[in-house]
Amino acid sequence: MLGLFNRTGMRFMGTKQSFHKSDLTFQERPNLKPKPAADHQYTFGGLSTDYMLEINYDVHNGGWQRPLIKANEPFELDPANATLHYSIECFEGLKAYITHDDRTMLFRPDKNFERMNSSHRQLGFPEFNPKEMTECLKELIKIEKEWIPRRPMHSLYVRPTSICMDDRLSLSKVEKMKTFIILSPVGPYYPRGFVPVKLYCDTNTVRAWPQGFGDKKIGGNYGPTLRTSRMGNLKFGTDQVLWLLHDWVTEAGTMNFFVFWKNEEGEDELITPPLDGTILPGVTRDSILTLTKELRQFKVSTRPFKIQELMKACTEKRVYEAFGAGTAAIVSPVQSFVYDNVTYEIPVDKEKGAGKLTQRILQMMLDLQDGKTNRPEWQFYV
Ligand SMILES: *Cc1c(COP(=O)(O)O)cnc(C)c1O
Repeated sequence: MLGLFNRTGMRFMGTKQSFHKSDLTFQERPNLKPKPAADHQYTFGGLSTDYMLEINYDVHNGGWQRPLIKANEPFELDPANATLHYSIECFEGLKAYITHDDRTMLFRPDKNFERMNSSHRQLGFPEFNPKEMTECLKELIKIEKEWIPRRPMHSLYVRPTSICMDDRLSLSKVEKMKTFIILSPVGPYYPRGFVPVKLYCDTNTVRAWPQGFGDKKIGGNYGPTLRTSRMGNLKFGTDQVLWLLHDWVTEAGTMNFFVFWKNEEGEDELITPPLDGTILPGVTRDSILTLTKELRQFKVSTRPFKIQELMKACTEKRVYEAFGAGTAAIVSPVQSFVYDNVTYEIPVDKEKGAGKLTQRILQMMLDLQDGKTNRPEWQFYV
């Protein structure tokens, strides 16, 4: 029986390969929080809902424990908790939407939970069955449905997280860990229409490197980037960092980066760097690549390109538009970038604050998330 063996082939009697939705229990809380007012101005991550999903793992106690939906409330950590010291932690981000026909939908949660498993492998956490996790999440969403604001462009942000629960200062194999999911109602990323961002290229720091961990959503990849972001803002008033790896363009802030240009061969091309281990494999990135290839209107490429190519294209006025892509904003138009003290402008429609393709991609994604266009393999109805 495969289920009795762990990854190294050693036998762990009774250690479960995954938790199961059929074991899910619900612990009702005595009273609920007041829901926000109908005109509440949502800030990203500012509110949490009543309940959370929690699944503990203990290698010495049968592995994965039963999944539990319980009150979202603070929990205690030992000061020696290994996560606090070594960032043995990973997270995910996805959203639940109310569709135009009043159904509740998760957008491609299978991709997020596959990616979470890859973070788990990196950190030495046990893997789980993404289908079982999706089913548990659906139950949580059903209970918390009233928290999803019934207003255009609003949604429920879903934050799965896994942390090490071992209380010891030695950096060693994970024995206890906890996976949980919390929910936060959110409003539109751009409440008053697109606000194009300015990017800062720093030639002294890299976010990710070949054979590193930049393609994993692990906490250690994020905290240390704040300094570069702050520096760009202080020196040039930029909003986010355009991360380079020895002049190779990688990502914009915590978003994948796309350029729509006329390339050196004179072809119209939408380009983003390939998944070579230095790029976070974004679900939005993947969706945009699929949707734009299906348009068959221009070349869609995943290949490496250097910042000098982008600078040259800007100077020669071959850049049509550029944008970041991620769950929070879907697309985030870019208006300029600073490299070596020089600012390069990227065209944006003055009125709309974004280029035509950026707007079109946003609309295609919104129609999918609103259930107005169908793509059953991406739309998980709750
Ligand atoms: C989360 C993230 C993205 C976007 O991924 P999505 O799945 O589209 O939300 C891109 N880059 C980085 C560094 C990220 O952390």
